[in-house]
Amino acid sequence: MSIPSLTYRCTACDLLGSDLALHRPRFYLHFESEVLMRATMGWCYTCAKPTVVERFFDVFEVRELQEKILRARTRLADEALNASAKSNWWQREQRATDAITLLETEIENATNTLRRLRHLAAIFNERIAGPHCIECFSEDWTPLPPSSIDAEYCPESASPVKLGFQHPGCGGEITVENDVRFFMKWKPQYFDFEGFPLNTPVTKEQ
Ligand SMILES: [Zn+2]
Ligand SMILES: [Zn+2]
Repeated sequence: MSIPSLTYRCTACDLLGSDLALHRPRFYLHFESEVLMRATMGWCYTCAKPTVVERFFDVFEVRELQEKILRARTRLADEALNASAKSNWWQREQRATDAITLLETEIENATNTLRRLRHLAAIFNERIAGPHCIECFSEDWTPLPPSSIDAEYCPESASPVKLGFQHPGCGGEITVENDVRFFMKWKPQYFDFEGFPLNTPVTKEQ
């Protein structure tokens, strides 16, 4: 099994970077809870390369999720009504398994994400440090523009595409291309809620 990733290069120098580390699971330990860190790719001015940076979230993201849940609940109520209006019992059954299960899963996923965001909000409220590079902990970074190509492996679009970001201090253009790495089993990494790694590895009780 392999996981897709993006490779970053520069048109003017031999810079080489990857978003592979983005796939590593990282958790904040907040009292008794483990809260999944959200991360994205940024340009770290201290590391002078593309790195994984912490991603906070904004209120719009929360609102979007709340609206998504509301819409799915309305559709769920409609589906239940439509299903009961069907004349054949098997049509009702089929309807229920297909659409209703799908909507219920959608609601459950969105509710879980919302719960995680609320927990993150509680952590970030207590936090002094801003979002930082997870390699050097510098807050001196800027987000990299989203890539116009997907990280999914797709050989016909494997040629480098300009990212729309200039290599700072070099002037070349950062390009991005698909890549495939063999399966790597990342060990989870644990952080305190200021986003600094915890030295002692945490073993979860089973
Ligand atoms: Zn360069
Ligand atoms: Zn850095």
